[in-house]
Amino acid sequence: MKRFLVIVLCLVATMSVATVEAKKKKITPEQTGVATINRATAEAHVEFLASDALMGRESGTEHGRIAGEYLISVLKQMGATPLFDGGFAQPFEAYSVERKNAGFTVWPDKIEEIKKKPHRIAPMRNIIAKIDGKNPDEVVVVGAHYDHLGYDPMLVGDKIFNGADDNASGVQAVLQILRAFIATGVQPERTVVFALWDGEERGLLGSTYFVNNFADMKKVKGYMNFDMIGRNNMEHRPKHFNLMFMPQDSIYKEWLLSDIEKHVLQLDPDFKTSEDFSGGSDQVPFYKAGASIVWYQTGAQPDFHMPTDECNRVNWDKMVEITKAAFLCLWKMANN
Ligand SMILES: [Zn+2]
Repeated sequence: MKRFLVIVLCLVATMSVATVEAKKKKITPEQTGVATINRATAEAHVEFLASDALMGRESGTEHGRIAGEYLISVLKQMGATPLFDGGFAQPFEAYSVERKNAGFTVWPDKIEEIKKKPHRIAPMRNIIAKIDGKNPDEVVVVGAHYDHLGYDPMLVGDKIFNGADDNASGVQAVLQILRAFIATGVQPERTVVFALWDGEERGLLGSTYFVNNFADMKKVKGYMNFDMIGRNNMEHRPKHFNLMFMPQDSIYKEWLLSDIEKHVLQLDPDFKTSEDFSGGSDQVPFYKAGASIVWYQTGAQPDFHMPTDECNRVNWDKMVEITKAAFLCLWKMANN
């Protein structure tokens, strides 16, 4: 009996030590989220979107529409919530004059002028989900464009602009980050909007339309952009990427450096500050609206806007590490 008692006491002692250890090692929501971000998911999204079957997913075309349907399907599957009552798609029309290759616009005053003459209309759709925050008066937005350049039947050889880096790489980041947020099971402090923009290649049309029409635009505090996070543009620095932000927002640099250490991320960032984000990608309308901007990109590469921007040239591991780093940053943008 005495021996039995000793065994029981020993067991109880061992169990309480184990509980204390478990509490010490308590997995944080950030760790839970970051653990869901992986290479297989990156490959699944990018390989579909950049496949020849999607013919370069040009905005306003059937193939752009198929890309949008895919994104809606993915969002439904992960149990995401649409930003708008009508569903994940935010449809809009872009107008252009009759001339081939004339630029499209979503600005109402320009559309009124264009309508007076023979003109073209391209139907487009942003695909947008959200997670409601505890404080709905503050919003952060993360976005990447999913459209690309389509195909050119007169091109000799490969006619399809697959756009693996530009910007299927960014799309997979937004999708994986949303899934990571959901996986934490924690409601963020601020509302987070997850946007996949259409019409970027035709002139930042989707993001511009969104900013011009989003009723809560005044609540948007920050915007995170992805445009091309899949390539190496320096052979000797395969883990390199650029983090771009405004000089007053050096917090993004501090967060990234601490996350690289804490989560052992295999990344070698350069920090680029700029006062002027009025060019290049979907951050432009958010910058003009006064939001804080943070932009991830792996930089210029020789296959930019070429049919050779294909999956076999991307650095999958780096794409995944950047996605993890961006999730950790967005988590802080949403909660700190
Ligand atoms: Zn792009």
